[in-house]
Amino acid sequence: MLTIHKYIRAKSIEEAYELCQNRSSVVLGGMLWLKMQNRTVDYAIDLCDLGLNLIEDKGDEIHIGAMVSLRQLEINPILNEYTQNAIRESVKNIVGVQFRNLATVGGSLFGRYGFSDVLTIFMALDAYVELYHGGIIPIQEFAAMPITKDILVRVIIKKVPLQIKYMSQRNTKTDFPVLTCAISKLNNNYLCVIGARPLKAIVFEDEKGYLDNGITEETVKSFVNDIAEQLVLGSNLRGSKEYRRRIAKVLIKRALMALDKEANHGN
Ligand SMILES: Cc1cc2nc3c(=O)[nH]c(=O)nc-3n(C[C@H](O)[C@H](O)[C@H](O)COP(=O)(O)OP(=O)(O)OC[C@H]3O[C@@H](n4cnc5c(N)ncnc54)[C@H](O)[C@@H]3O)c2cc1C
Repeated sequence: MLTIHKYIRAKSIEEAYELCQNRSSVVLGGMLWLKMQNRTVDYAIDLCDLGLNLIEDKGDEIHIGAMVSLRQLEINPILNEYTQNAIRESVKNIVGVQFRNLATVGGSLFGRYGFSDVLTIFMALDAYVELYHGGIIPIQEFAAMPITKDILVRVIIKKVPLQIKYMSQRNTKTDFPVLTCAISKLNNNYLCVIGARPLKAIVFEDEKGYLDNGITEETVKSFVNDIAEQLVLGSNLRGSKEYRRRIAKVLIKRALMALDKEANHGN
C-alpha cells in the first residue's frame, strides 16, 4: 500500500518541481501504478489544477498535457485524424475504459516501462517530451535517460506528412502486450519501433535503404530480416525471446504492408 503523509495540489509547475526534489515525495498521475507500490512518502504532489489535461492543436504541433488520460488519447479527433487512428489502436487494449479514464500520459511515460504501448506509439510519432527542468527533448533521448526528479509537463508532436500503423500481440485481449510494433513514414523516412520486448521500446530506421524502391515482398523481407537480426529481446512469463522474434517479423511485415495498402489504395 502507498502511505501518504501530506497530499498537496500544486499551484504551479514550479511549486510541483520544488516539492518533488524532496527525496520522500511522489508526483501523482492516475495512481494506477503507484497504488500497487508498498512505500511511504511525505509528500504526494497532484498536478490536477495546472491545466495539463488538454490536447491542443497548435497549428504545426499537437500539445498533449501530462494529465491527459489514455481515454482522451483514444477518442481525440485531432490525434486520430493525424495518426489515422493509430493512437486509438495503441491504447484500446489497455485494461478497460474505466482504467483508461484514470491512467495519464505523464504516468505512462515517466516510468519508461518495458511493456509500454504508450512509449511505442509516441516514439513512432518522433514526439518530444517537455520536462520542467530538463526542457524539450526527443522522446528517444528521454527513453534512454535515467529517471530523475523532474516533472513531465507535456508531449509535443511536430506535424509532418505522416503514415503510421500500430500493432500489438497479446495473449489475451486486455493483458500486457507480448510485443508492440509501430511503423511510421515521416517525411518519407521509415521508423520501426518495437516495444514490450520486454524491454523499453527501441527505434530502427531504414539505414540501409531497403524500402527506398517501394514496398514489395522482397524489400519488406530484407527490412524485416535486418531488424530481426539486430533486435535485442528477452523472455518472461508472457513469451520467450524466440517467440517474440517470430512475432516481431510478422508484425513488422503486416504493419508495412497495411501502411502501403492504405497509402496506395486508400483503405
Ligand atoms: C494492471 C495494469 C495493466 C496495465 N497494462 C498496460 C498495457 O497493457 N499497456 C501499457 O502501455 N500500459 C499498461 N499499464 C500501465 C498504465 O497504462 C499506466 O501507464 C500506469 O498505470 C501509470 O499511469 P498513471 O497515470 O496511473 O501513473 P501513476 O501510477 O500515478 O504514476 C506512475 C509513475 O509516474 C510518475 N509520474 C506521474 N505523472 C508524472 C509527471 N507528470 N511527471 C513526472 N512523474 C510523473 C509517478 O510519480 C510514478 O512514479 C498497466 C498498468 C496496470 C496497473
